[in-house]
Amino acid sequence: MNVKEQLFSLKAYTPGKTIDEVKKAYNLDKIVKLASNENPYGCSPRVLEAITKSPSFAVYPDGAAIQLKDAVAEHLGVKEEQLIFSSGLDELIQIVARAMLSEGSNTVMANETFSQYRHHAIIENAEVREIPLIEGCHDLKGMAEAIDGNTKVVWICNPNNPTGTYIAKDELLSFLQKVPSDVLIVIDEAYYEYVTANDYPQTITLLEQFENILIMRTFSKAYGLAAFRVGYGIGSPELIKLLDVVRLPFNTSALAQTAAIAALDDPEFIEECIIRNTNGLEKYYEFFDQQHIPYYRSQANFVFINVHGTETQEIFQRLLEKGWIVRAFPNGIRITIGKEQDNENLMKELKEIIPIKQ
Ligand SMILES: *Cc1c(COP(=O)(O)O)cnc(C)c1O
Repeated sequence: MNVKEQLFSLKAYTPGKTIDEVKKAYNLDKIVKLASNENPYGCSPRVLEAITKSPSFAVYPDGAAIQLKDAVAEHLGVKEEQLIFSSGLDELIQIVARAMLSEGSNTVMANETFSQYRHHAIIENAEVREIPLIEGCHDLKGMAEAIDGNTKVVWICNPNNPTGTYIAKDELLSFLQKVPSDVLIVIDEAYYEYVTANDYPQTITLLEQFENILIMRTFSKAYGLAAFRVGYGIGSPELIKLLDVVRLPFNTSALAQTAAIAALDDPEFIEECIIRNTNGLEKYYEFFDQQHIPYYRSQANFVFINVHGTETQEIFQRLLEKGWIVRAFPNGIRITIGKEQDNENLMKELKEIIPIKQ
């Protein structure tokens, strides 16, 4: 059949192994999954309470997600017209690619970064310009140089997945000033809530000055609602109106909208999770320093160990056989910060595994 040629160069997304798969394969009782940056503490208890009061399942959800929009607008101090909701951020990435990219256009991003930017760009037949990270960080100079008259979208992942590094305010600002005003700059802030750096940019304040920014956030990570699929974009009303044309009519479910509103209403839960995450990161840094394991400092809820080549697969495999699911990349291993005891146990495991390789 005559499907788009470029699909032959892509694979369907393969998520990390599931807990049941690993249990069966290695005959284990306990598995700890630290592969997808989910919140190890789940979500606010208010979510369960709210969704049991949900209205009829027989009627369509509110496609415009008006109540959720109101709640998020108030939370962020933006106008309702500046928001678009999606079935996870994944769908918003698809919406942007569909709205902006086509054959003859190009799009600029880092490598490694979140895989879906590239995936959807290729489906739309756009040229993908990947600029290698430097020390785990976006090479903004290289990215600015890669932009030309056919560039439609630039993707910034801040903090970056999988390395956890971040772009500081001044650096981002000088980059934004270099990008032509008709090029869309997507700033993916999926881990926004976890950031503790003082010089992390508050991008919402930049929207007035730069109308070509789309900020992306999600309820999947710190809010602990990955199963519900709710992400959103913040941008100029003109841009949002156009992206809404591409959005499916009922892309966020009624339950998901209800869950997100309830989660937003419990800031104490998020604060507690952030403190625990920051403590977990500090413990990992201490351990890596002691063991001389190279890593990047992270502003997210995961940490990236900088190992290379076959070593990556070997470490991944040995952890898997002991019941630890982490995520392997070509240049390292990404570990989600889990509960305190799990982190400690994993460090013990790593201590045994990594020195053997040195
Ligand atoms: C997890 C993640 C997303 C997608 O999250 P959704 O669950 O689809 O909302 C998008 N961008 C980055 C950088 C992520 O890590």
